[in-house]
Amino acid sequence: MMNFFPIIYEDELFYSIISRYKQTSGITSKTAFAKDLFGKVGRPQSLFLPKNINCVISNLPINSKLTAENFILENSLFRFFTAFLSKTKSEDVYKCMIDRESDNVERGMGIVGSKVKINKTLNFCPVCLKEDMEGLGESYWRRLQQVPGALYCLKHSTKLIESNVIATDTKLDYVCPDNDSCKIQPTNQNETNNYKNLNIKYVENASLLLRNSFERKELKFIINFYIDRLRERGLASKGGSVYISELQNEFINFYSREYLNMMQSDIDLDSETNWVRMFVRNNNKNRSPLRHLLMLQFLNIEASELFNTSSVLGKNTITIKPIPKLDRDVMRQKWLEVVKNNPGAARPELKKISKGLYTWMYRHDWEWLNQVTPRKSKRKVRKEIIDWEVKDNEYLILVKEAVEQILADDGKPIRVTRASIRRRLVETREINNKKLVRTNNYINDNIEDIDNFRLRKIRWAIREMIKLNIKITPCKIQLFAGFGGNDKYIKKMIEDCIDESTPEDIY
Ligand SMILES: [Zn+2]
Repeated sequence: MMNFFPIIYEDELFYSIISRYKQTSGITSKTAFAKDLFGKVGRPQSLFLPKNINCVISNLPINSKLTAENFILENSLFRFFTAFLSKTKSEDVYKCMIDRESDNVERGMGIVGSKVKINKTLNFCPVCLKEDMEGLGESYWRRLQQVPGALYCLKHSTKLIESNVIATDTKLDYVCPDNDSCKIQPTNQNETNNYKNLNIKYVENASLLLRNSFERKELKFIINFYIDRLRERGLASKGGSVYISELQNEFINFYSREYLNMMQSDIDLDSETNWVRMFVRNNNKNRSPLRHLLMLQFLNIEASELFNTSSVLGKNTITIKPIPKLDRDVMRQKWLEVVKNNPGAARPELKKISKGLYTWMYRHDWEWLNQVTPRKSKRKVRKEIIDWEVKDNEYLILVKEAVEQILADDGKPIRVTRASIRRRLVETREINNKKLVRTNNYINDNIEDIDNFRLRKIRWAIREMIKLNIKITPCKIQLFAGFGGNDKYIKKMIEDCIDESTPEDIY
């Protein structure tokens, strides 16, 4: 039984409170101390997520009003590490921290085996340390400064420094921060200054997680939330398929690979299983809270917005709660009026004008909304008489240009198809209209059959290889042109190409 207990400081780590208790109590024997604290000896402890807290509570001085809940919510990293876990998983961790001694808390949360590791040492802010020493006569370990990925002190915007207290030991020695454990090395404060603002934003979000008990969401809900936000950013299709390459590129542009590397989250673009790819996919693996925060910050969303959201769409295959037909019809009618009363206005304007209505429709009746809402501001008047002959001539010129462009491209050849032609055009709405007779005849005459396309690719490969001084062999041409496998038919085609043409006339 302890006969006193220290006053707890703001955001103080449980480990830190115990360390100060140890220092004040003057107990030097590890065994005696463990017995005093946990009633038993030799229980492994975790520095960021202490276990068996009930045992400590029962040893507190009689007049103490502290509860296990105080310690778990206010003095451990519980809220950070479980923020993105389901309610059930969070509660399991909570129970472990209260009174189970054998279960591995970190394993339950997916910290063990995660690519994002907890900090190796306890960190401190040199300015906080100095201020504490002058004001309080002692210092303490702050929770927020131990969050993985936190590189700066939120109060002073100074770079955090590693102390010499190892955080990964399971037999804790309970050391207070002082001039021995916290050596202020002349660190280069400029080193990471490029990332200061990015990281301070990250620490703010982490602090939000630590200070609030947000309602827990299922992982599937969170993934769908991301998909919705990505869709709004044009980074996912209407159906909810994420445009992975674009997402990866924008993510790297936003953070830079150097910063991502500092955050243990570099993206290997060549890997089919890099973390960003896996992150937005529906699988049951726990994701590190650090990466959730990176994703939210990238999406420019505060963590609280995710937790306060009540419904998501995600992939369209997901069934949405049926809504009463009456409500839906009323809302549809309202929406049609908004559209009608604002001729010429497109989605973004209509969304602004109607506020909640658009959001409601977006969530509950997306397909219909999509059908009836104009996309672009300039709406053509339907009644307008279209002179198809004029249009035909206009399109013909554009299509010819597109075909010429495709054939003249410097890079690896692209096959001339209806689709590749369309991709080159700005306006394609009417291109399949049968009234565009000359245009469609031209397209049909000029799209490439597969063999012609192969020949063009082979010739291109030979030209490029000559430029690059690569020896011309059928095998190398095959590779260079990107024909996979060991296709005899293509090999023959390549050999014919080499035989029948001198390099000059290939060129
Ligand atoms: Zn500080």
